[in-house]
Amino acid sequence: MDGEYGAWLAAGLLLLVVAQGALLLSRRTGLKKWLHPLLLVAMGLLVVGFAHTHSPTAALIFAPLMALWVGMRLWMVRFCQTCGATNRRRLPFDDLTHCDKCGAAL
Ligand SMILES: [Zn+2]
Repeated sequence: MDGEYGAWLAAGLLLLVVAQGALLLSRRTGLKKWLHPLLLVAMGLLVVGFAHTHSPTAALIFAPLMALWVGMRLWMVRFCQTCGATNRRRLPFDDLTHCDKCGAAL
């Protein structure tokens, strides 16, 4: 592994730890609402960037896949305005209308 791959990997792991930590520990819905899409897009760009260090073709394959993944994650997760809980759809077309934790409307 050369230095460039190591840097990509370190940045990815750091981002993952920060993202998970912020989303799991924070009760501030406002923070989660802007942090969640930002981190998803950053993760997507990181994966595409990492693929690009291998070959430009790999990046072209990963770019639409990551865009789809980011869109899916944004669609699957809703944050409760009342208690700050992170609510996830169990199935992609589940109706996510109420908070699992406090029952407030989402
Ligand atoms: Zn709630």
